[in-house]
Amino acid sequence: AIEIHQLRKSFGDNEVLRGIDLTIRPGEVVCVVGPSGSGKSTLLRSVNVLEEPTDGRILIEGVDVLDPDVDIDRVRARIGMVFQQFNLFPHMSVLRNLTIAQEKVLRRKGAEAKQVAQQMLDRVGLGDRGTAYPAHLSGGQQQRVAIARSLCMNPDMMLFDEPTSALDPELVGEVLQVMQDLAREGMTMMVVTHEMGFAREVGDRLIFMDGGVIVEEGVPAEVLANPRQERTQAFLSKVL
Ligand code: ATP
Ligand code: MG
Repeated sequence: AIEIHQLRKSFGDNEVLRGIDLTIRPGEVVCVVGPSGSGKSTLLRSVNVLEEPTDGRILIEGVDVLDPDVDIDRVRARIGMVFQQFNLFPHMSVLRNLTIAQEKVLRRKGAEAKQVAQQMLDRVGLGDRGTAYPAHLSGGQQQRVAIARSLCMNPDMMLFDEPTSALDPELVGEVLQVMQDLAREGMTMMVVTHEMGFAREVGDRLIFMDGGVIVEEGVPAEVLANPRQERTQAFLSKVL
């Protein structure tokens, strides 16, 4: 589980997270929506301590990730993160993109790393593209490779920050499908997205953020159909 207590984050005078409380149960899929600048990425990045919170606590599987005695790299290794930009290594084949961290971080032998990589490529429907280079793949395929690369590290949970926002519309579906499959298989997921259809179909919970706080949360279909807060209504009326 991910437990976030009274999380605050400031950049200088700008308080971007203003007391976030959120618990994500194992296997739960939480979708996070909200206007630009509301703090969605900062929240996600705080979970694996890419941002250092100003105040509050974050427990992952009971481990306080802000405790200076905790080996943060070990915690981070259990959390996969996928961004809007795919960040694949352009000069490496797809297969190499998937094996390098396994070898360097998990110390897996080449043969084992390749076997895992092939499994994960199969899982995202790209089993035959291992020898290709990223530039020869579509954006949707590159993002599926990025997801497969995360999965090679055996994460306990996956964080997605607008994974389909950089894609041409016709390529969005294939990435959402892979994410939906992952959710079905029981992966714990936090997903910042503008894809309200995905949030409704796949999300267990929808969180609406504005101004660094959680304004409203609930079952996605209910929040989308009957937002209770004015700010949620205003936002949804623009995006739905
Ligand atoms: P978007 O939908 O545009 O991605 P967001 O909800 O993800 O927005 P954040 O990226 O979390 O928003 O940013 C929240 C606020 O924090 C913004 O005002 C942003 O300018 C500020 N901010 C984010 N990162 C930094 C940083 N490294 N230094 C200073 N300010 C930052
Ligand atoms: Mg963002």
